[in-house]
Amino acid sequence: MTIDLRSDTVTKPTEGMLQAIMNAQTGDDVYKEDPTVNELERRVADFLGMDEALFFPTGSMANQAAIKLHTQPGEQLICDKWAHVYNYEGGGVSFNSGVSCKLVDGDRGMITAQQVRESINPPDFYHSPLTSLVCLENTTNKGGGACYDLAEIEKIKEVCDTHKLGFHLDGARLMNALVATGEDPKRYGKMFDTVTLCFSKGLGTPLGTVLAGTSELMKNAIRVRKILGGGMRQVGFMAAAGLFALDNNVDRLAEDHKKALNIADVLSHAPYVSKVERTETNIVIFYLAEGVNEEKFMTDLENQQIRISNMGQGKLRVVTHLDYTNTMHDKFLSVLKNYA
Ligand SMILES: *Cc1c(COP(=O)(O)O)cnc(C)c1O
Repeated sequence: MTIDLRSDTVTKPTEGMLQAIMNAQTGDDVYKEDPTVNELERRVADFLGMDEALFFPTGSMANQAAIKLHTQPGEQLICDKWAHVYNYEGGGVSFNSGVSCKLVDGDRGMITAQQVRESINPPDFYHSPLTSLVCLENTTNKGGGACYDLAEIEKIKEVCDTHKLGFHLDGARLMNALVATGEDPKRYGKMFDTVTLCFSKGLGTPLGTVLAGTSELMKNAIRVRKILGGGMRQVGFMAAAGLFALDNNVDRLAEDHKKALNIADVLSHAPYVSKVERTETNIVIFYLAEGVNEEKFMTDLENQQIRISNMGQGKLRVVTHLDYTNTMHDKFLSVLKNYA
């Protein structure tokens, strides 16, 4: 039994999901003739209370398309220094959109309205890049699954409106935030111009991300997706997995969050750990005490068939998910408790 806690992307489809995939009605989605894709796009748009949505193979491609829809080459977006769009999308912001990032020194990947206001370049000062977009992440990935305070997002939205900036949410794990906070998804749809929602993370599908947005922005989304190489054909098989996930895998995220909290609790009492970040959803970030060798710690876990992530700078990460069973949980907790 391998216990893989490197990411919530390692899950395999369950029996029920495989059935849904096999029974999917499909068509050529490049002609917009795949009924299952169309249904998933409609479901996500309605869920967020947004006008339109489009299915993408990956979250990175959906974020990159959104950034392209909001910006012109030479412009600048504002995001946290830990943002996925800046750190983990291969520099696509500059490659695909010719845009630079103004990095904000936020808290666990989250930034404030005040910080956004201070990061906007004066539009008539032509020496600096024109600020045109603000990107937030909820939950934050590198920030350890932290959830934004909705009131702060509302304040950032006001800043965006005042300065006529686009507002994009990288909601790869938005569903985790919604389950953890009980917030109404439509409040997100109301504030943001574009929102991504990943199905291949906690929701447990093999692939797929939906980008939702206002009809004005989304009218060009299909062209941008095509340019990025993301026009897919009978992809309804994967959209069926997404629909199955919406029906079956949302409420159970609370279980992942509970397990993460148990792990954080054990780690916070462990002598070999110096610090555990506040754990709000399914990600636990912790640091080893001085003198504890990171490589050795990872290898010792590997020898017990347990895999976690090393994020560098002494930062270790555990992510709970659908395939992390109660039996695995008991074993992992016991290994952590007895590690010397
Ligand atoms: C996983 C993730 C994405 C998308 O990643 P892909 O691997 O391209 O699907 C985007 N943003 C955040 C915050 C993520 O965690």
